[in-house]
Amino acid sequence: MTPRKEHRRRVRPEHPVRVEKRTGPGGQPEVMLTRRGVERWRAGHPWIYRADLQADPGLSGGEVVRVVDGRGWLLGQAFYSAASKIALRWLSWDDTPVDEAFFRERIAAADELRRRALPGDTTYRVVHGEADLLPGLVVDRYGDYLSAQFLVKGTDARKEQIADALMAHFGAKGLVNRSDVNVRTLEGLEPEKGILRGEVPPTVAYQEGFITLRADLLQGQKTGAFLDQRENHIVAGQYAFGEALDCFSYVGGFALQLATRAQKVTAVEISESAAALIRANAEANRLNNIDVVVANAFDFLRDAVDEDRRFDTVVLDPPSFAKNKASVDAALRGYKEINLRAMQLINPGGLLITASCTYHVDDAAFEQMLASAAADAKRRVQIVERRGAGKDHPVLLGMPESRYLKCFVLRVS
Ligand code: SAH
Repeated sequence: MTPRKEHRRRVRPEHPVRVEKRTGPGGQPEVMLTRRGVERWRAGHPWIYRADLQADPGLSGGEVVRVVDGRGWLLGQAFYSAASKIALRWLSWDDTPVDEAFFRERIAAADELRRRALPGDTTYRVVHGEADLLPGLVVDRYGDYLSAQFLVKGTDARKEQIADALMAHFGAKGLVNRSDVNVRTLEGLEPEKGILRGEVPPTVAYQEGFITLRADLLQGQKTGAFLDQRENHIVAGQYAFGEALDCFSYVGGFALQLATRAQKVTAVEISESAAALIRANAEANRLNNIDVVVANAFDFLRDAVDEDRRFDTVVLDPPSFAKNKASVDAALRGYKEINLRAMQLINPGGLLITASCTYHVDDAAFEQMLASAAADAKRRVQIVERRGAGKDHPVLLGMPESRYLKCFVLRVS
């Protein structure tokens, strides 16, 4: 190595150690990316990890910071987090002020996409976080009512401003805050829930095709329902025939659609309150061929195999089995157990509609698990459709984390 190169290395280290307080115009806090951080920014990933930047240790998190490269050139603005490993979440690629008008514009742009993708619909995910360029914010619309999750300090600190922007855009009657989720603890935030604006009735009705469902926005799971499966509910209904089984049914999104074509549907759900909603939803839609069983689906499936029961259409839509990479193996064992049993229960020529919302189990791993279940069940299985979440859950190119839901339609011979 020439002395010249060595000298250059000393003055331009890969990870600079200066952490002095930096501010941009108007006193806005500024953080500087390392070269690796700049690479990530260029690749389009909306997160920057702590090791890839230099920030003033005095920042408490929740700030909208200016982000610059090693030469001081502006790369954009981001929410800063002091607690999470994800230190930055990109908001913009310029220095437009991040104020109520900014949120209004982003919300309007997100909603415009839904109006094009789902014309005439009034129930959909309005904001899908990073994938709608609104990191740490999830908003679902159920007609006149909205249900939001503020997942990071940046959005939590601005929830009044965001609530105003949402209410103004939709002219909504009520807005629920469903930030009662554990991921907030990574940001040093407590889970919280309540009504942020207006009034919200105990249950809210919404359409899925010809079916009307009711969900409890305040006490139900997630934001009240699992809107990511809406299109798959309708598709499952189109395939259904004969004797059907819907495991992990929640408020009956799959079960009710299956019931429009199948002779009889058994809906298995562990939560009593969800099961009560399946019964009420079935009755409201005048579907009297749904049998609701409050049980652990793992036990139900094992007993059904032991009892030699048979079904023609089976849906499996369990909750996420792995919250992190470390639990992927256990998750795959869980998926295999239920899919193997479902295949054993299906009459030849029957259908299995099987989903996984675990991001850490990707398409390839899910497919491999299904192949292994089919081999153990000694059944031949065709993949008819490989589906994902609905169009109101866009995937941000360059951010694999925004694609998490898999839903395969299989025929089991
Ligand atoms: N299929 C639903 C969403 C399912 S979410 C839809 O499309 O809307 C997962 C559901 O599984 C939740 O309602 C949860 O209460 C239920 N659940 C969780 N563990 C369960 C188990 N072991 N057995 C049966 N249901 C379970």
